[in-house]
Amino acid sequence: MRGVVSFTTLMELRVFRGLALLWAAGSAACTQASTVQAEKETVAAERAQMVERQIAARDVRDDRVLAAMRAVPRHLFVAPEQASSAYEDRPLSIGHGQTISQPYVVALMTQLVRPSPTDRALEVGTGSGYQAAVLARLVSHVYTIEIVPALAREAEARLEKLGYENVTVRAGDGYGGWPEHAPFDVIVVTAAPDRVPEPLLQQLKPGGRLAVPVGTPFSVQELQLIEKEASGTLRTTRVAPVRFVPLKREPPED
Ligand code: SAH
Repeated sequence: MRGVVSFTTLMELRVFRGLALLWAAGSAACTQASTVQAEKETVAAERAQMVERQIAARDVRDDRVLAAMRAVPRHLFVAPEQASSAYEDRPLSIGHGQTISQPYVVALMTQLVRPSPTDRALEVGTGSGYQAAVLARLVSHVYTIEIVPALAREAEARLEKLGYENVTVRAGDGYGGWPEHAPFDVIVVTAAPDRVPEPLLQQLKPGGRLAVPVGTPFSVQELQLIEKEASGTLRTTRVAPVRFVPLKREPPED
């Protein structure tokens, strides 16, 4: 009997050790999952604070725009070494001499074009893809063009990884817009031309809204809202002084 008892005890001991190991592994996985969850909550809180202090406290009051700014994980649109600055009130470098705009400017431009869920939008200057992601939450589809091929590829991969299925990225010069998908209800230009590109005005739907920084390169430009009335008449509102990188032109082909 003793032998049997001790055998059972040994079995129990093994089972117990097995369970203990499983429990330890489970708790490690749990700890890892809860760390990830805690990190998510921390960045979400940083984002909520960014929206409250930098955006709503200024003059962006559109609830849909504020919700989109709260939802898009801006820290995943910048290089890892910049992630801790992602929610600061300033533009950040995204490489190739380009920048992701200050959060407030993204929100302001988004509010200006009054995005609605059935709209088709065009963005010129994809950069990191951040503005495209914000717009994608507010319209039915975003077409976005980036002149630096490496940035276009990176933005496309990033948007796909984050699950933005309603964004199409193209590498090329956005000066001529995207005639195959025109007309657009919304156009956002995130690099500054010295004059509003004529093809973009043509590709704006009657009733459509275009936000564009206009002015000389490397100085202060003027953010303009251009609205096309049902009759086709254009109405321009000067909104605010801003500073964007210049809209470059692709050299003409021989
Ligand atoms: N909207 C971007 C930031 C834009 S920075 C974001 O959310 O991250 C401006 C971008 O416009 C740069 O990436 C620059 O390469 C691009 N750009 C400049 N001229 C362009 C042109 N003619 N056509 C398309 N993109 C252009």
